Formats: sequence, C-alpha cells, structure tokens
Amino acid sequence: MSHVFPRHTKSNLPLAAKGDGAYILDANGKRYLDGSGGAAVSCLGHSDADVIAAIKEQLDRIAFAHTSFFTSEPAERLADRLIAHAPGSLDRVYFTSGGSEAVESALKMARQYFLEKGEPKRARFIARRQSYHGNTLGALGTGGNAWRRAQFEPLMVETSHIAPCHEYRWREEGETSEDYGLRVANELEEEILRLGPETVIGFVAEPVVGATMGAVPPVPGYFKRIREICDKYGILLILDEVMCGMGRTGTLFACEQDGIAPDIVTIAKGLGAGYQPIGAALCTAEIYDAFVQGSGFFQHGHTYIGHPTATAAGDAVVKKLTEGGMVARAAQQGEKLDAALREAFGAHPHIGDIRGRGMFRGLEIVEDRATKAPFDPARAIHKKLKAASFEAGLICYPMGGTIDGQTGDHILLAPPFIISDDQIGELVDKLGTAVRTVLG
Ligand code: PMP
Repeated sequence: MSHVFPRHTKSNLPLAAKGDGAYILDANGKRYLDGSGGAAVSCLGHSDADVIAAIKEQLDRIAFAHTSFFTSEPAERLADRLIAHAPGSLDRVYFTSGGSEAVESALKMARQYFLEKGEPKRARFIARRQSYHGNTLGALGTGGNAWRRAQFEPLMVETSHIAPCHEYRWREEGETSEDYGLRVANELEEEILRLGPETVIGFVAEPVVGATMGAVPPVPGYFKRIREICDKYGILLILDEVMCGMGRTGTLFACEQDGIAPDIVTIAKGLGAGYQPIGAALCTAEIYDAFVQGSGFFQHGHTYIGHPTATAAGDAVVKKLTEGGMVARAAQQGEKLDAALREAFGAHPHIGDIRGRGMFRGLEIVEDRATKAPFDPARAIHKKLKAASFEAGLICYPMGGTIDGQTGDHILLAPPFIISDDQIGELVDKLGTAVRTVLG
C-alpha cells in the first residue's frame, strides 16, 4: 500500500520511472508522450543534460544557504538573466518555491507598497472570473474559479471579479475583436469606480489563460486598455505568468506579445522546467524602492526562497530558453502543432475552438458546434479524454467546463519545446485516438 497522500484519493497511479526527452516511462516500460509538460512545466523535456549538470555542479559546491545570511551565485545570475530579458521596468526578483508562493508574494508586495506610500485604504484586488492563481489562501482568494473557491469560502483576500476575455465564448455577433476587448477591459474601470479607486491595490490576470479555460489568448488591444486603466487610477497591474511565461507562448514573457509591461509578474513552472521547484515574483524599482525608503524590508519570506540548487536549475533553464534558442523553437514548433491540430480536428463536430500561442494550445469540446453548447458536466468528458489519452500513451491536460455552465470541457496542450516534427504527429495521432474513443 502506498503511504503517499495522492492528488486524487481514489487513484491508483503508475510509477514514473524514467525520463527520456519528451517521454516519461513508467515502471512497466510503457512510454507516455508528454503532451502537456505535466501542467505546462517540463518545457525542456525530461532528460536535459545541461540542466542536470548545473544542478549536480551546484550540489557539489553547496546545496542550501539561508537567505537571511547569504545570497548565492546562481540566485544572482538567474535574477540578472531574468531582468535582462524582462519587459518594461521590472528590476528586482523575489524567488519562491512555486507558483502559489509567487502569487502570494506578489499580492503582499503590492499591499505593502501602498502601506509604505501611506495609502492603507488600498486593500482590495480585482481579478477575473474563471481565473486560477494558485491554491494557497491568498491566491485562491484572488482567483475567480467558483468551483475551487466554493468549499473554502469566505476567503480572506478582498477581491472582486470582472469578465475574462474569451472571444470564442463571449464576443457578440457583429462585434469586432477589438470592440469586444475594449468592452470587457472597460469592466475594470467600472469596478474601480464602483469600489472607489482609493481602495484598490491592483488588477491580477493571466495574459494567456491556462488551467481554467484552456490556452485562451486575449484579443488585440485588451491588455493595452487594461494598462491604461491601471495607470489612470494608480493601481498596480499584476500579471500571473506562472503557466504562460518562460517561453511557453513563443516569447519569454507572454505579455510581450500584447505590447505592455506589468508592475509585478509571477513566474514558476517553466522556470525550473520540473528539474527543481522554483517560482519568482518580479517587481519594478519603484515598488522595491518604496520598501527600501520605508520600513526597510519586505515583510515576507519562506525558508527556501532563493534556494541555490533551485536557482542553479532555473539559471540553466533560462540560459537555454534565451541563448540556447528554445523560446524561438517554442514559437516555431507551436505553429506546426497548431497547423496539425487544425488539420486533424478543425472540422470535428465536437471541437468548437482551437486556440493558443506557441507551445500553449487549447481545444474546446462542445456538444453542438453551432450553438457552442457544452456537454452536460455530469458526463465528465474531460476525465474520459484524460484516461483515453493516457491509455494511448499521451499525457494531456483536460479540464471540465467552468461553473457558469457556458464554457465547455477543454484540452490543454503544452508539450516540451524540444518536441520534434514526428512527435507532433504522434501527439495529434494519439489525441485523435482518444477523441474517437470518447466523442466518436
Ligand atoms: N497561477 C497559475 C496561472 C497557475 O496555472 C498555477 C498552477 N497551475 C498557479 C498559479 C499555482 O502554481 P503552483 O501549483 O506551482 O503553486
């Protein structure tokens, strides 16, 4: 009997025994093509010799030194590397052990920034419905996914939620993409005015929405308008790139493609590429300076922040993404994946939308393409697709429709950037087998 408390208490999972490029092998030798990088984590596959060597080298020097006493070479190098490639005036890096911790740090940073500035009434966040920002209480409180929040309510972080930007679902007939984007972005201004601008800390959003909606990019102009509104009312724009950052969408930071820069951005998943648990919140010099000139420190911290072994892994990963050409490869292979998905499923009666950017692609499953009506959630189509794909030797990341009953089940694909053309073919074939098994 296993004594590990599993993710799903009723599951009987195979043992992951070995990584081999884009594949995971179980203890029986069955090979699974990793079509989702777990949950958009393994951007460099499962056997990257350079990242493994960087970790070993760091372990031979020193595995851990507490950040109350020391900084470390890999943490300094990685922070320099991230800032050199970061958009706008992001200037400081706060390391964490994962995505939820990065979001928690970002929320507290934003709150403390206004406290330092003598604006204590600013105590609320605005985020979007159907969003996911992590499972710790602050991140969960900010997120707008009703199903994840429901049983833990009331949550402690004061957040209100506006509409997401999901053109396939909510753009009205006759409305242009740009007009739709402005309409939903303007909900932010309405909400700020309803609450009183002097009470709002910031707006939190994923540039390309991952887990809750399935790789949904914003329409052109949406984030430009969001940035404008944040600036108009002096509230912070906090972008959550835990899933869509680190090259996943074809640029190192997803927001680069929207032509804007945030005040704080969170990253994780692809930063350690699965080789080490690591995340980070990057902030502007203005925010950092407020701490320096105010109380003198950010009142936050976890034992493992800036962990030398984890930052050594992150440094090797980001080097490979930038200098090693892996971000460019994500963009290039992503186009091929998109074309292959459209060819295989573009006319499928139950696949209503194929979307995404780079190596971040989503397929939305519908009962009826014309009305976009989703399947009855009781049919648990996403669970069946996950099981049928796994059986066929493909790891993908299907999720159920969200609580408002309007969005359907979807499949999220986030393969390693190293995936070959043949493996893209294999991914689409295996997904086809699963889709035929479940949807006919
Ligand atoms: N934000 C986003 C956008 C995410 O997708 C996730 C994880 N799925 C998180 C935050 C939380 O990250 P973690 O699971 O590493 O805590």
